[in-house]
Amino acid sequence: MTRKQFILSLEGVSKTFDGFKAINDLSLYVEEGELRVIIGPNGAGKSTMLDLITGRTRPDSGTIEFADKTDLTALNEYQINRLGIGRKFQTPSVYVDHTVFENIWLSLEGSRSLWSCLSSRVTPSQRERIGQVLKQVNLAGKATAKAGMLSHGQKQWLEIGMLLAQNPKVLLVDEPAAGMTDEETIRTGDLLMSLAGKHTIIVIEHDMVFVRQIARTVTVLHQGSLLCEGTVDEVQADERVIEVYLGRKKKT
Ligand code: ADP
Ligand code: MG
Repeated sequence: MTRKQFILSLEGVSKTFDGFKAINDLSLYVEEGELRVIIGPNGAGKSTMLDLITGRTRPDSGTIEFADKTDLTALNEYQINRLGIGRKFQTPSVYVDHTVFENIWLSLEGSRSLWSCLSSRVTPSQRERIGQVLKQVNLAGKATAKAGMLSHGQKQWLEIGMLLAQNPKVLLVDEPAAGMTDEETIRTGDLLMSLAGKHTIIVIEHDMVFVRQIARTVTVLHQGSLLCEGTVDEVQADERVIEVYLGRKKKT
């Protein structure tokens, strides 16, 4: 049997806020190791979808399954994170008064409290692992810098590094290129592409240049539902996508 293995399966998921259907009968399947890009106009439900996957919000109906049929809707945020699903929010949240190195150290698998961590010593294997992560996220030269001194783009990379330190199976990344320079955006794209395969990555993004750089499969959300799915060229040529983005039909 060579059935494709989905690491995440959403089926018929709906979520209403005060009578407003933020997610409406959404079904979405992501394969292990995939780099999936989700686009859609503001308010399409993209961030809410991540809230539902991570247990921040519970669906009204539908199923959300991880890997070998683990029902995520029955678990809380902490339990879902422990399964290996990490999320990066839009605004970076790093420990600004600690060094880049310490930020990664604090995030290592089996992480401890800030105090117990900083009052103990870094083991050689931890040092090696921290070095690997810093290299991955282009911050090897910044290990001793205070995180608060980093540029916006570097803070975003540090936060991705903090997630990687936990060795997640799935990484959910919400609009990583927002506020980045063009060069930072390209490096972020390279970083996410280098992580695919080893990790499954779901990226929400608006910047179509960035989407074109990284995307294999693009999923378009609109009014909480899946509008279409395909390559960048396919979705950009799709009349329904042109209509929801530009509010008009494509001329024939
Ligand atoms: P996107 O990320 O695609 O821009 P969101 O998922 O943030 O869209 O929001 C989808 C819709 O759901 C919006 O209209 C938003 O106001 C609404 N919404 C999201 N979260 C909540 C919440 N916790 N309470 C009430 N409304 C919400
Ligand atoms: Mg959003």
